[in-house]
Parts: sequence; structure tokens; C-alpha cells
Amino acid sequence: MKSQYILEKDAELPDLKELGFGKWASPYMYVRRYRNGAWEAPIIHEYDLFALDPAAQALHYGQLIFEGMKAYYNKDLGKIFTFRPEENAKRYQRSAQRLVMPELPVPDFLASVFEAVRLARRWIPPFSEANPIEASLYIRPFLMGTSPKLGVKPSDDYAHAVITSPSGPYFRSGFTPIRLKVETEYVRAVRGGTGEAKCAGNYASSLLAAKRAEAEGFSQVLWLDGVDRRYIEEVGAMNVFVLMNGTLMTPSLTGSILPGITRSSILTMGEALGVPVAETNIDIHELLAGIENGTVTEMFGSGTAAVVTPVGLLGYQGKEYAINGGHVGELTSTIYKTLVRIQYGLEQPAYAKDWCIEIKDA
Ligand SMILES: *Cc1c(COP(=O)(O)O)cnc(C)c1O
Repeated sequence: MKSQYILEKDAELPDLKELGFGKWASPYMYVRRYRNGAWEAPIIHEYDLFALDPAAQALHYGQLIFEGMKAYYNKDLGKIFTFRPEENAKRYQRSAQRLVMPELPVPDFLASVFEAVRLARRWIPPFSEANPIEASLYIRPFLMGTSPKLGVKPSDDYAHAVITSPSGPYFRSGFTPIRLKVETEYVRAVRGGTGEAKCAGNYASSLLAAKRAEAEGFSQVLWLDGVDRRYIEEVGAMNVFVLMNGTLMTPSLTGSILPGITRSSILTMGEALGVPVAETNIDIHELLAGIENGTVTEMFGSGTAAVVTPVGLLGYQGKEYAINGGHVGELTSTIYKTLVRIQYGLEQPAYAKDWCIEIKDA
């Protein structure tokens, strides 16, 4: 079975309920090569295989970074938006720096993303207030080392590409609480490593733990820090938040956590909503004790793909801890709804006035 379907150029958007996440590919791609120390002109072509030297650096030593973004089509307004795309552009540069790759200038990154969205305009799932299904065009920019290098060295040449995928909710269950396994054997990242870069290797190394957790009936794992195995870090592709004693807390960015744009937006939003917020160390034992004695009332994950995903249960060394009786919390719900309304251009609070960027025709 194919796991991905490439849309025909004249195809209609598949039924919204059939979309799934990352299952469909729009039929065009945007490619920009870096050769002889300079960025070449972009090329747009049909979605196709990449011709790579079998010794390409990215294939052997993983010089490959990516971003995850979405285009939101508000059908009532007839407008297409993206959410804080400059933040993705800057993170792409930081990830590139960490892996000794050339940095794509911010305006060039934005131009590539906007162009990829225009090419896929026909397949951006529509959102309307009458039928508010959370669907969007998922955008995947990536940059890889393409030079043949069997010695471990940075590549000379690179390819930046953008592909897009009309997508529905990340978790099939939609906005319902997920079960997370607190991972005590494997770690995702350590300080000084590449945890704060959005690079391919971080995800390959997470697959085994995720597979085991799934076999045990969990959606994903909640990673602990790599040194003390005591402080919570994040989930597969989401940062995490905990409402404890009325304070909205998230692990501080210590170097091993991916600095999520959704995370930083929710911190700003929480403050604006009058909720005390804190970036701090969250000890797993205090968290579990708080769940048991009722001081931890809500927990959720945040990310572009998963938006806001409520966490209903933590499994730790064979024991299960249900949060808020496994129900979605009130603040989680408010943050989710507010974020979605901002992303689809329905609301523009003062703190978010430059978050939602319209993609206009070129
Ligand atoms: C992409 C990602 C996130 C979320 O980042 P956003 O900018 O909010 O999409 C969180 N954790 C990991 C590991 C990620 O890869």
C-alpha cells in the first residue's frame, strides 16, 4: 500500500473526512539549489522523485533540516493565511547553522513557501464558520546536503525544496485527549546535541520508543531530560503545557527542546488571557503527584501539525495517571479555539496583530 497519493493536476480536493495527515501530495514542488557557494534561481516542477547521488551527504550523515507550516484558507473571507512564517524562516536558519548548512535568507524562504502555497491553491481545504473542520494545507520546506561525501564533512551543494499536503487533523481522534507514555529508557536529545534544531536525525532516533509506546496503547511518548531522566521535555512533534495550581507551565528551553512557535504563541496568549504563565523545570514526580492530588488540572501538547492536543493520561512505569478524569480542560479548550480563530483570520487580538499573514496572488 502506498502511504502517499499524488494528486492529479486537475483533481478535486479529496473529501475533507478522507484527508488524514500527510496522505496527499499536491502535484507541484518548489526547488532551489545551492551550488558553488550561491543560491541558484528557483525551479518549479511537477511533484517527482529527487535524483540524488548515492553518496549524497544527506543520505549517509543526515545533513537535513526541515520546517512544518500550514496555509489556512478561510472560505468566508476568501483569503489564505499562514501563521508567523518569519519565525519558521528564522528557525530554518538556526537549524542550518547548527548543521553547518547555508542559511536561506528570510525573504527567500518566505517567497518559496508562498509560491508553494499558490501552486497548491486548488487543494487548500476550505474552512468556514458554518463547517469548522480543522483542515489546512500542510507545508514542508526542507534543506539537504546533496554532494557525494563518504567522508564525514559538510556538503558543498544543497537543495532547498517545498512540498505541500492537504491535511486534516494530525491525530485521527481529533480534539480528544491522548494517552502519553513517560519514556524512561530512551531519550530524545541532550543539551549540546541537536534537540533544538529541526533536523531529520532527531526523528529517526525517536521511532523505536514511539513504536513501543504504541504497542502498549499510547499515542506517543513524553520525553524526559537525558541527564537526570527527571524533568519533562516534550512529545514527538509537540511542546507540552501543564496547568498546575492555576499556573500554565511549560518546560524552559534548555537546549534539548525544540523551540516551538505554537509554544511561544501560547505563552503570549496565556498572559493576555490573564493566566499566570511560567517557563520552568517540571519534575515528573511532582507532575504525577500533582495529577494524583488534583493540583494538576490540565495538560496539552502544542505544535503546528497537532495544534493544541489535550493529554488525558500519563503512563509511568506501568502505572496510569488520568488528568482531569481524562476530560478536556477548560483552558485547553479556550486556547485551542482562540488559536484556531487567529490562524484562520477570524480574530486578531492586539497581542497577535502580526501573526496571521495573508498570502496574496503574486
Ligand atoms: C516542530 C516541533 C514542535 C512544534 O513546533 P511548532 O513551531 O509549534 O510547530 C515541537 N517539538 C518538536 C520535536 C518538533 O519537531
